[in-house]
Order: sequence, then structure tokens, then C-alpha cells
Amino acid sequence: MNFELPPDLQALREQVREFVDDLVIPAERAIVEEDRAGDDSTLRSLQAQARDADLWVPHLPAEYGGKGLGPLGMCALFREMGRSPVGARAFNCDAPDQGNMDLLLRAASPSIRERWLTPLVDASITSAFAMTEPAPGAGADPSNLRTTAKKVGDHWSIAGHKWYTTGGGKASFLIVMARTSDDPREGATMFVVDRHAEGVEHVRDLDTMAEPLLAHREGEFRFDDVRVGDEAVLGRVGEGFRLAQARLVPARLTHCMRWLGWADRALELCRWYLGSRKSFGKELGRHQMMQQKIADAALDIHAGNLMTMHCAWMLQRGEDKAARPYSSMAKRHVAQALCRILDDCIQMHGGLGFSDDLPFAQWYRFARASRIADGPDEVHTMVIARDWFRGRLNLLV
Ligand SMILES: Cc1cc2nc3c(=O)[nH]c(=O)nc-3n(C[C@H](O)[C@H](O)[C@H](O)COP(=O)(O)OP(=O)(O)OC[C@H]3O[C@@H](n4cnc5c(N)ncnc54)[C@H](O)[C@@H]3O)c2cc1C
Repeated sequence: MNFELPPDLQALREQVREFVDDLVIPAERAIVEEDRAGDDSTLRSLQAQARDADLWVPHLPAEYGGKGLGPLGMCALFREMGRSPVGARAFNCDAPDQGNMDLLLRAASPSIRERWLTPLVDASITSAFAMTEPAPGAGADPSNLRTTAKKVGDHWSIAGHKWYTTGGGKASFLIVMARTSDDPREGATMFVVDRHAEGVEHVRDLDTMAEPLLAHREGEFRFDDVRVGDEAVLGRVGEGFRLAQARLVPARLTHCMRWLGWADRALELCRWYLGSRKSFGKELGRHQMMQQKIADAALDIHAGNLMTMHCAWMLQRGEDKAARPYSSMAKRHVAQALCRILDDCIQMHGGLGFSDDLPFAQWYRFARASRIADGPDEVHTMVIARDWFRGRLNLLV
């Protein structure tokens, strides 16, 4: 077993870390404030610097300007980007665009790639992924899918209701999951839909626990006889559920990578207060109950890191199906760890932690969604237990 990164990847990792430390973190506050005012000039300038530094879309193949990193390389870099909640955006590696780029690369027709993938890679447009529907439609259980696509003459007519389409309001196109037959396995198909096509109604952006930030605005949509041609189908008709898995397994792992960097930075920020604030005659960090929280957080991050790297290694070897329960383990563990750590960061800083003078409270509000989005904890728990019963888990790998 060798945990050392190849020298070129190590150098790239250091470059990304320096970029995040020197340029992204100092600009964080400005980016958030500008975003509230509908401006993105600081973000755009960071993106230009990332391009100049040859750090743009490193996850993509060379023909799209990337470095063809593969899951292990992404793991090394995305953890660094994730140290800031706006970091991944600076390199055009943020959700949902990064997962959508991956999906278009795998499954889109040449005309769709040319129309949508090229500008998406360039960040001149953004995208969204529309699978979830309000009850009784698709949620934790995608088989509840209600949105339909029917073939009418030479086009498809899409009708339905979606919500939690992250970034949909500002997106140029949506990847819409719709029912094309009653077959339980092959009954769903994904379509690439122009966000401004006739019949697409952006009902609202939901007000949620977290303040909206960059693309992380939760759109509600209605589709009324939205017409698309065959070229808009991703993969084959009936391949929607399979493609959803193909998108979600790596996409949830990239969430884990970013969240690990975020958790690590949060813990790092605790040094100053724990080392300087005195209570009952000694620094907070010398109280065992504070040490317990630090050690728990360190264990959580380290365990999550190993789970994520192990699963990335499986994906790198093309073992996508076998990797699925491991991605569920990593996702459940890292999401819960992130929430626990941020909650403890607030606790360890007392009133200061609860205030917006430090970022923990705001970060906690963002982070809480991690336990719901891309499958709630309980569904991952179900997958892990199911695959354990089937003898598919090698826990002592
Ligand atoms: C911030 C955010 C961003 C999102 N972005 C997107 C997006 O871009 N595109 C998209 O399509 N969707 C997106 N989602 C939707 C997300 O994937 C769903 O919320 C999630 O799959 C759960 O579906 P649901 O909300 O309908 O919950 P339900 O299906 O109604 O489930 C409710 C609760 O029931 C419990 N539960 C469900 N199943 C089981 C089970 N088998 N066993 C035990 N308990 C269970 C869980 O606690 C779950 O939270 C986003 C969600 C959030 C919060």
C-alpha cells in the first residue's frame, strides 16, 4: 500500500492549495457579498487567474482543456478546493456543473456536447440536474418518478413538476429525468432541455435553511408540453436510472472530497481560540472535553478521507458497480462528520461561534443539506446494510 501521491500530482495539489490560500480565501467574503448583490466580478477574476495558472477544469480530459485526472487525482485536488465553500467554483469544479459535465461527456450526442458542454466548460453558462419532485413524486426513492416524456411524431413532449433543481433559475440547460415507460428498471430517460424553451416555467427559488450562494439556489420548475428532439436524449431511451447511478456515485464522492477539505479547514480555524481563550484558569484547549471534540473531529476526517480515497481507487479501476456501497459509506460518514464538526466548532467558540463574526454558523447552515442531498443518510444506510447481507462488502480491505 502506498499513500504517496505521484510527484506531478503532489506538485499540482500544492499549487491548488497555494491558490486557495493566497487568492480564494482572502476573496471569500467579497464573493459572498457580491453574490448577494447579483455581482460576480471577484469570482470571474479568480476564474481568469485559475485559467492563467493552468488549473481550470482539471478533472476533464485534455481535449476539453483539463488534465484527465481520474477519481484519485480529483480526490487530491478537490479536497484542497473544498477548503473554501467558493473554492470549487473558482476552478469550475463545483456541483452541479461538474457532475453534469461528466454526464454529458459519457452520454450526450455530438450536437448536444457542442451546444452545451463547450460553453459549460468555459463557464460562460451554468447547468442544473432535475430529478427530484415534490411528493408524491421522485425523492429518496426515484421510482416514484411522475414527470413524463411521450413521443409525439418526431419529438418528445415533457410534462411534470420538479423542485430542488439546484442552480436551475440561472442555468442555460437542465438535465431532466422523465418517465418514458412503466418498466421498473428501464422506465426512465434523461433529456437535455433548454431552460428557456417554451413550456419551461421557473416557478421560484425556494427559501431554505441556508442562504443562497452562487449556483446553490434551489429551483422549482413546471414543464408543460416541453418539446425536444431525439438528440436531447442522454444515452439510450430507458437508460435514465442507470445513468443516474453513473452520475451520482462519482458525484457524491466529489462532494465527499470537497467536504473533507471544508471540515479540515474548520478544525484548523479552532486553533486560535482554543489556544488563547482562558476558562477556569487554563486555555480551553487544555480542557479534556475540548480535546475530546478535537480528537473526534480528527478521527472523523481521517476515516472519511480513507473511505473516500478507497472508493476513488475503485472507480479509477473501473469497478463502478462494486464501488456503490463504498460510496454510500463515504457519503454518509463524511456528511455526518461535516455537520458534527461544524456543530462542535460553534460549541467550542461559544457565543462567538454562534455569531457571524466567524464563518461556522453560516457554514453549518450550508452543510446541513449534505445529509439530505444526493440521497439522505437513511437511504445510504439501507444500501450499506443490503449489500452487507448480500456479501458484497469487504470491510477489512
Ligand atoms: C440543498 C439541496 C440540493 C439538492 N439538489 C438537487 C438537485 O440539484 N437535483 C435533484 O434532482 N435533487 C436535488 N436535491 C434533492 C435531494 O436529492 C432529495 O431531497 C433527496 O433525495 C430526498 O428526497 P426527498 O426530499 O423527496 O425526501 P423523501 O423522499 O420525502 O424522504 C424524506 C425523509 O424520509 C427518510 N427516508 C427516505 N427513504 C427512507 C428509507 N428507505 N428508509 C428510512 N428512511 C427513509 C429520510 O430521512 C428522508 O430525509 C437537493 C436537496 C437539497 C436539500
